[in-house]
Amino acid sequence: MNIYEYQAKELFRKHGIPVPEGSVIESPPDAKSIYERFGRKVVVKAQVHAGGRGKAGGVKLASTPDEAVTAAKAIIGMKIKDLTVKKVLVEEALAIDKEFYLGVVLDRERAQNVIMVSSQGGMDIEEVAEKTPEAICKATLHPLLELQEYQVKNLIYSLKLSDAERCQLAALIRKLYRFYCDIDATLVEINPLVLSGASFIAADGKVTIDDNALFRHKDFEGLFDVADDDPLEREAHQKGLAYVHLGGNIGIIGNGAGLVMGTLDTVKQEGGAPANFLDIGGGASASVMKSSLEIVLSDPQVKGIFINIFGGITRCDEVAKGIVGVMKESALKMPLVIKLCGTREEEGRAILKEAQLEPVTEVREGARKIVALVGAGSRG
Ligand code: GDP
Ligand code: MN
Repeated sequence: MNIYEYQAKELFRKHGIPVPEGSVIESPPDAKSIYERFGRKVVVKAQVHAGGRGKAGGVKLASTPDEAVTAAKAIIGMKIKDLTVKKVLVEEALAIDKEFYLGVVLDRERAQNVIMVSSQGGMDIEEVAEKTPEAICKATLHPLLELQEYQVKNLIYSLKLSDAERCQLAALIRKLYRFYCDIDATLVEINPLVLSGASFIAADGKVTIDDNALFRHKDFEGLFDVADDDPLEREAHQKGLAYVHLGGNIGIIGNGAGLVMGTLDTVKQEGGAPANFLDIGGGASASVMKSSLEIVLSDPQVKGIFINIFGGITRCDEVAKGIVGVMKESALKMPLVIKLCGTREEEGRAILKEAQLEPVTEVREGARKIVALVGAGSRG
């Protein structure tokens, strides 16, 4: 789960990580009173789940109350990486002496957490990693050991800082790592971490919380923004379906996660672009099959559907009934390829036959057929 910068900063504040004072607003005129509260320069920042807001014009400085309102007007409603800005954070502007990068991230390849520090703050860290990898200092955390003092020292060793600043940064690194562990994050990033006068302060904040740990953090429920959800996935999950939107044009339905993934791979190998993953589960009824097909059909990109059923506790006749049920309600205007085998296969085939549907017998044959009917795609 991604959260907004202003929410990340609220969590930072609670955990003793210094952040600027500010408020989030949805209506531009409200920027005026916030400006007046500080009585000096503010920064107005787009709140969207995307980086690169600075480059996109989503971060503006304002030196008068009217400028703050104008900046908020310009930013609210703007699109950044396809996301519409609905809220802005208005904060006291910082006098920036130096910008650093400080982040903790789960490195899935090493299966360990990694702390990263760089003097090249304010820039895209991926770009820094590519162009000047020596400017990033990393410490890898052993899962059973705490952050070690030598690791903290190594991280800040090469930075040009005074002793007092070094001490402050060391404390901040320890705090940020503790915070990362406490909230079950997979990413916590401060870019830039600003040195302003003699203090470090988080000018930006990005936090990703591990979805699998959300049950341990009931207080985080309010942080979730459904506006970011894929609308198809939201609808499917409300109906209790295991659906993942992939963006191609061939809808895929199967029973069992392994079978569905195998089907996706086969379609992809044959040059097709799967539109989704959809597992109807074991022992699915005709009505589950029907609502599955309806979800896939409501994806406007879908131009054809491949249904792959291996009947075990799932009965082929139930699946066939579900398919025919949808066809009775509305004429299916796209190619449909079905592979059906196992429990009650004969009964299932008979039901499909009445609807002029002839199932294939091999997965690859089915994949080739649907790709030939729909055409090869590049996405998914
Ligand atoms: P991002 O582009 O989405 O990562 O947004 P950031 O919050 O990192 O802001 C982009 C840039 O705006 C930063 O790297 C800073 O250089 C600048 N910036 C952000 N906050 C302030 C501020 O309070 N004062 C000043 N002078 N610049 C700021
Ligand atoms: Mn940033």
